[in-house]
Amino acid sequence: MPSQLTARPSDIPLKNLYNLLEPITLPKEKARFTNWGRSFVCTPSSIFEPENEFQCELVLELARREGKTLRVAGVGHSPSDLACTNEFMLRTTKLNRVLEVNTEKRYVVAQGGITLDDLNATLAKNNLAMTNLGSISEQSLAGVVTTATHGSGISYGVISMSVLALSLLLADGSRVTCSRNEHAELFMASICGLGATGIILSVQLEVEPAFRLQETQQSLPFDEVLQDLDKHVRSAEHVRFWWFPTRDIVRCSYSNRTTEAKNPAGSWWWHTFMGHHVLQFLLFLGRYFMFLNRWIANFACWLLSGDTIGVDDSYKIFNVDCRYPQHTTEWAVPYENTQACLRDLHSYLNKEFQDPDGIRPHFPVEIRFSAADDIWLSPSYGQPVAWIGIIQYKPYGFNVPYRKLFKAYEEIVTRYQGRPHWAKPHLLQPDSLRKLYPHFDDFRRVIEDVDPEGIFRNEYVQRHIMGKPVDPRIFKQYP
Ligand SMILES: Cc1cc2nc3c(=O)[nH]c(=O)nc-3n(C[C@H](O)[C@H](O)[C@H](O)COP(=O)(O)OP(=O)(O)OC[C@H]3O[C@@H](n4cnc5c(N)ncnc54)[C@H](O)[C@@H]3O)c2cc1C
Repeated sequence: MPSQLTARPSDIPLKNLYNLLEPITLPKEKARFTNWGRSFVCTPSSIFEPENEFQCELVLELARREGKTLRVAGVGHSPSDLACTNEFMLRTTKLNRVLEVNTEKRYVVAQGGITLDDLNATLAKNNLAMTNLGSISEQSLAGVVTTATHGSGISYGVISMSVLALSLLLADGSRVTCSRNEHAELFMASICGLGATGIILSVQLEVEPAFRLQETQQSLPFDEVLQDLDKHVRSAEHVRFWWFPTRDIVRCSYSNRTTEAKNPAGSWWWHTFMGHHVLQFLLFLGRYFMFLNRWIANFACWLLSGDTIGVDDSYKIFNVDCRYPQHTTEWAVPYENTQACLRDLHSYLNKEFQDPDGIRPHFPVEIRFSAADDIWLSPSYGQPVAWIGIIQYKPYGFNVPYRKLFKAYEEIVTRYQGRPHWAKPHLLQPDSLRKLYPHFDDFRRVIEDVDPEGIFRNEYVQRHIMGKPVDPRIFKQYP
């Protein structure tokens, strides 16, 4: 055995390869993958859970020998089938160590499978913090990087902009470190690479001294916010909006770095009992009595209506309760088109509300902002953007209608040159994506160079990047 552990994977006989992989292979009955939103499900032919990098090499070697594709999956929070496959899957949950913390140079190196929750905890112990975060910290670091996950703040880029270097395991079994100075094209492709460039073994991430945020929340009329949109967006470092279209009210959140003492806002009664559990029950009733959904949205808006000010550690303010399994989609619209796009969405929704048989959507519409960047496939490539996201909850996991709403929404954001969030479902094909992304063909060139056989190209990548006819509903929980 020891000689096999030091041998090159390509020299290990197939039978021994199976033996070495046996302890990290999930039993057949457990080889099933469901995303967090419970909207996509797949049954990979094998699921591996390696505990070290050598085992990743062994899995890759087996995939090569058996002619299988290999999809790396983090914690499955992508609301699309981005992480799904019918062939081999490598889960990174056990590749979750922090490898280096450099407080002086303000960076951290961690394995790709670490969750942001765990990373936040280690950073806090070292008096450090990530510069920006999305709504949750449950995702894996590599999952966040490969999808250009974003937080909010018109002067802040997507999280991948904090990546200084990546260590990758490529399809040919070699390892490479890439950064803006070293293998720069591979780096620009990989920091929003959809898992198609290689396995991200570790990430070197720029961080900053730990900070607290003071968040002010208030509810304002939709027209007032839209009229002075730029003033609102630039009035704090991190601004986000939750729009309740049934009441024409926008819940506005403005956060700035502060040295004030911690003083969290909110209470268990309002936020957890009423805002989570009671709402879930009401949404469940709304499945059967659609007309209730408008009233439930008004109630949720009312729950949040008072002005609040809270001070807490940055990551606790950035993160919010995303509630229950859900269908969701989100597109990045060029910042200059935000007002027009939201007005269009507003008219569409009002028309639906006036129609007795119209759509009664869930809430809120979430609106966030990112600075322009230079990452090839980042939706904020070359321009600041407004991210506009819609949602249909699945109370207690039960399904709800969403397709008509999402189709209408997509037609609207497309009119304003929107680019879809890669982790969320969309129907764009290479022809449209090429027009939206000047580096689309560079991305294809790089993945074809580093992975000519397409080992890392799952059904999602084949469909959207390579333009192969893969059914978009292939992994849908309710086909
Ligand atoms: C409740 C909720 C809230 C969210 N909030 C936000 C938000 O605020 N902002 C935002 O932008 N997005 C948000 N998302 C989307 C989320 O950040 C992305 O879907 C992210 O990719 C999830 O990470 P994951 O670990 O679950 O990755 P998975 O969904 O498991 O995989 C996503 C992609 O990462 C690739 N990948 C994972 N690990 C590796 C690796 N080691 N090497 C190479 N490729 C890898 C996979 O192949 C796949 O392509 C949210 C999602 C949910 C469910």
